[in-house]
Amino acid sequence: MSDKGNGVDASGVFALPLRNRFRGITVREGVLLRGPAGWGEFSPFRDYDDTESASWLAAAVEASRVGWPEPVRDSIEVNTTVPVVAPDHAHELVSSSGCRTAKVKVADPRSTLADDCARLEAVRDALGPRGAVRVDANAAWDVDTAVRALGELDRAAGGLEYAEQPCPSVPELAEVRRKVDVRIAADESIRRAEDPLRVAVAGAADVAVVKVAPLGGVRRALDVAEACGLPCVVSSAVDSSIGLAAGLALAGALPELEFACGLGTASLLTADVTSSPLSPVAGRLPVPRTAPEPDLLAAHSADPETTRWWQDRLCRVGAIR
Ligand SMILES: [Mg+2]
Repeated sequence: MSDKGNGVDASGVFALPLRNRFRGITVREGVLLRGPAGWGEFSPFRDYDDTESASWLAAAVEASRVGWPEPVRDSIEVNTTVPVVAPDHAHELVSSSGCRTAKVKVADPRSTLADDCARLEAVRDALGPRGAVRVDANAAWDVDTAVRALGELDRAAGGLEYAEQPCPSVPELAEVRRKVDVRIAADESIRRAEDPLRVAVAGAADVAVVKVAPLGGVRRALDVAEACGLPCVVSSAVDSSIGLAAGLALAGALPELEFACGLGTASLLTADVTSSPLSPVAGRLPVPRTAPEPDLLAAHSADPETTRWWQDRLCRVGAIR
């Protein structure tokens, strides 16, 4: 199918099974676009409307038609992610990851604060004193709960690097930030290009978690990062290696990169569209000049109904841009 409105070919709709359920989904879907500069991924989640999806298309069009700006570094340090598991399992995950930074999921309904503390102690033990431990609460707490929990988690971890999205709203983040010594990172509060600035103006965060697709491409994300003035951590949206390459291009081009990025997510999928997936080695990923070639697309193409759904979506969103 050719989408002349964007000057790119929609080369294939993919469906990649996830290792574990994420945002209520078990299969990651999207369309790969091919253009003169290479490949781009268009994979907004199904619950995003067409307007919100337009920035995702802008990012895919940039990758496939224009390419990315010159990087200022060759490789990117990434964090390992520790889900809600028993302490010994967490220890083993971190030890075998090769990463110096661990992001630990906390505040999950399946785990108590005491469980979270035990998991953090195990993670610290695995990383040693020079490793960095961050937690992600995925907006689960109110302000009082966040203040109490972060004090205990900070002690259990032997010092937290930062806490990601302790509460849902920007004013709540700002209040928690005033009341605790732990640095606060905004993730769910940043979904559109204007959000990082809003977070910074409100004094709601010390760190901005940024993703290429919602911000409309690597160049726009660089502009946003500069405008908000916060240190940025580049994360994926559990993309295929085509989308991950764009995240690495952003991480590679940011003038400053203080923290490990959340781009080591290829292993969250059970398959990829390329036989050279962007999987970390010794806790690092290379900054690619172009996205990998999708050679496994046929093996992981979506069924006809899903394909039609994505082609329709691509046409609608393309008409908005
Ligand atoms: Mg997060």
